[in-house]
Amino acid sequence: MSSVIKQEFPITKDVLGARNEYSQDEKEEKKKIIKKLLKERDAKIVAHYYVHEDIQEIADETGGFVADSLEMARFGMKQKESTLIVAGVRFMGETAKILNPEKKIIMPTLEAECSLDLNCKYSEFKKFCDQFPDREIVVYANTSAKVKAMADWVVTSSIAVKLIEYLKNNRKKIIWAPDKHLGNYIKNITNADMKIWKSSCIVHEEFKSNLLIDLKKEHPDAAVLVHPESDLKMINLANVVGSTTQLIKASKELPNKKFIVATDNRIFYKMKQSSPDKTFIEAPSGGAGATCKSCAHCPWMAMNDLEKLENVLMNQNNEIILDPKTIEEAAISTNKMINFAKEFLK
Ligand code: SF4
Repeated sequence: MSSVIKQEFPITKDVLGARNEYSQDEKEEKKKIIKKLLKERDAKIVAHYYVHEDIQEIADETGGFVADSLEMARFGMKQKESTLIVAGVRFMGETAKILNPEKKIIMPTLEAECSLDLNCKYSEFKKFCDQFPDREIVVYANTSAKVKAMADWVVTSSIAVKLIEYLKNNRKKIIWAPDKHLGNYIKNITNADMKIWKSSCIVHEEFKSNLLIDLKKEHPDAAVLVHPESDLKMINLANVVGSTTQLIKASKELPNKKFIVATDNRIFYKMKQSSPDKTFIEAPSGGAGATCKSCAHCPWMAMNDLEKLENVLMNQNNEIILDPKTIEEAAISTNKMINFAKEFLK
């Protein structure tokens, strides 16, 4: 069976419905309400770097956390609050539920999906895996709870190379899903025996290497930071390739004053926070007038706004519900990732 499948992007009207422009007074008023509700509901916000800076800001101000998906998962497990509000996309809420089954996990919207998850449906992926019963199944965190439940390992981009190296050193053959670019990048580095499912991220796929070459000429002093969900041509032009956390770290530590960044542009909030004197430029994508579906910003991440955050706290709806068996099985592969990260990301 071919692992090439039709990409589906059911982006709803709600994406456009997100409200992100507020007067300073309105914003302060909303934040006041949200802070009060967080206390009343015994809740904490765990947000991804790709959500709007208003949400990142309020997560920081209220003892919540802004991070990549691995760190979001690790942070959530250490919290005493009974409710976690996961501001990101659906698989992140599911991961939080898998690791914290006793907690209530709610999200500003349950419609925020991910093209990688959508294009790795359990039934199709199971058929693919059944063809290679001797291989370890390694899935990226950007998958549904059911897919995690059938996997041997879950990984995020922060630890993917290290885990595949580890499995290769233990003479394991691998099935990798769902991101083909990250899979090919890891395969090139490790030379591991990998069968790769062919899905991709609609945001990182939009970056254009030919336009990046031109932009580099305009800014020869800029370092290029690329997320490994981008294609190989983009990766070959990078000074640093890494997960969101690794790219933020590089922007802080490299001596360059200017960076061209090929990942979701909401990451600039944290980059500017830690390096206010540096300049960050979006890597070129197809552009708003072209066929670009994302233009350097994930349309699903963009669905998270202050209004939805307030509403979900008020109504305590949008809860992630998973069946106990799926939680139990997915917890095995997901906890292996957490334990592996503890051991290898010291
Ligand atoms: S940026 Fe890409 S990988 Fe991340 S949630 Fe959006 S579609 Fe998925």
